[in-house]
Amino acid sequence: MRVPLTTRDFLDRAELVYGDRVGIVDEPDQPAPSLGDLTYREVARRGRALQAGLDALGVGQGERVAIVSHNAGRLLECLLAVPSSGRVAVPINFRLSPEEVGYIVGHCGAKVLLVDPELETSLKGVQADHRFSTGEEYEQLLRPDTEPVPWAEPDEDATATINYTSGTTARPKGVQMTHRNEWVNAVTFAMHMQVSDRDVYLHTLPMFHCNGWGLPYSMAGLGARQVVLRKVDGAEILRRVEQHGVTVMAGAPAVWNAVLDAAAEWDGEVPGRDRVRIIVAGAPPPSRTIARVEAELGWEFNQIYGLTETAPLLTINRPRAEYDELEPEERAKRLSRAGVPALGTRLAVSDSGEVLAQGNTVLAGYWENPDASGEALEGGWFHTGDGGTLDDGGYLTISDRKKDVIITGGENVSSIEVEDAVFSHPAVAEVAVIGVPDDKWGEMVTAIVVLAEGQQATAEEIVAHCRGRIAGYKIPKRVEFRDELARTATGKIQKFKLREAFWTDAERQVN
Ligand code: AMP
Repeated sequence: MRVPLTTRDFLDRAELVYGDRVGIVDEPDQPAPSLGDLTYREVARRGRALQAGLDALGVGQGERVAIVSHNAGRLLECLLAVPSSGRVAVPINFRLSPEEVGYIVGHCGAKVLLVDPELETSLKGVQADHRFSTGEEYEQLLRPDTEPVPWAEPDEDATATINYTSGTTARPKGVQMTHRNEWVNAVTFAMHMQVSDRDVYLHTLPMFHCNGWGLPYSMAGLGARQVVLRKVDGAEILRRVEQHGVTVMAGAPAVWNAVLDAAAEWDGEVPGRDRVRIIVAGAPPPSRTIARVEAELGWEFNQIYGLTETAPLLTINRPRAEYDELEPEERAKRLSRAGVPALGTRLAVSDSGEVLAQGNTVLAGYWENPDASGEALEGGWFHTGDGGTLDDGGYLTISDRKKDVIITGGENVSSIEVEDAVFSHPAVAEVAVIGVPDDKWGEMVTAIVVLAEGQQATAEEIVAHCRGRIAGYKIPKRVEFRDELARTATGKIQKFKLREAFWTDAERQVN
């Protein structure tokens, strides 16, 4: 028998098995009226009322519903319900400019646009056939009074969501995820992280980013409570962990650094010790951060690696039994690798050092962009654009974005490895390592450092700190200080911008 694997399964099971449980805890009114605490039965009913509303508007199967919103109960509801109703959910980064949002809405041909009330004014110029705010207007869109219609039955190969990834120079590309992609990601992820109905999940990750890594589906299907967090803030995360008995969270390394800062000021015992497990990805987590999370918070540190194009789960690194007796520094080193392939994922490294992947979480293609799709999937492998190495135990270590590798004196240097060494200096709050043109070395390893508030360190001290930690040729030959580093809308450091300042006379940003 073959039953289509669709996002519906997660909502159906939440409703049937956990109907009486609070499934979504929304933020208080801010600025949209809060949904309060919703049971999974209410979540499913509201989802079908949204489906009836889309039917009434004449939005056909496979048509796109775009939503630009901070984390919110209604955004979460849309991620669960829009694909289950046979339409395609397009969650858009709320930090993008009106021009960029307009491009995405136009490119995906959205029939419906849902906008966070806080963004109404700035996005007033962006239009679709139907536009609603995600406050009162959204409630008008729902048709709770119509005869409850069963869910649509989308095909598992139909597109469930489109996530636009920020290009650095080119226009953003729409990553098309099928129901099957989302299903396999959510189930595999839940299995590896041992999600259960005892879990309480706090949304520390922006839900627009790769559909919150697909975790809203995992959590709903297994009956875990989901607590909405609108804005990431270290102290607020600690308060929620305490208040809601949170057990699982996910986010980029910067989120956990903010939590560590807040924990240092926290009055009394930090909540969640020996209970919370965090899932970290999006950028390489420095080993100092890993060691501090374990020592100062007592939270379990898990790393995954993947991309929006892979739903995202490709690899996972959980603290395994063999690590129990290791010294903290050695443990952190093991946990700083990207991890081993998730069940069903195959990895390889190309001759040029690029990480390649095959599996059921890999995208169907980029929306209306056959050239980019062909390039990304050339030869039957997905090309990640990341450089990396695989060791005997199957562990992947990410060394760099392909374009960020530094070639100095003919040797390849992984900027990530150098950043890890520089970051282990306690005065360093942020660091990016880049290559700058140099007559002697071709490229010279250069560290751009932001110091922690109230801390001091000289370039010489930072260089001295790296000695013994990494090979001599990898040690930065130049250290510069800045007040902040340029980041993309999803928080990734824009190394090309940092490089630009040094390469104004050069044609290309490589030597
Ligand atoms: P995005 O599609 O925006 O989620 O970004 C995906 C990119 O983030 C990958 O191609 C990597 O460059 C980076 N990334 C994600 N997870 C990790 C990780 N665990 N370690 C290092 N880089 C990562």
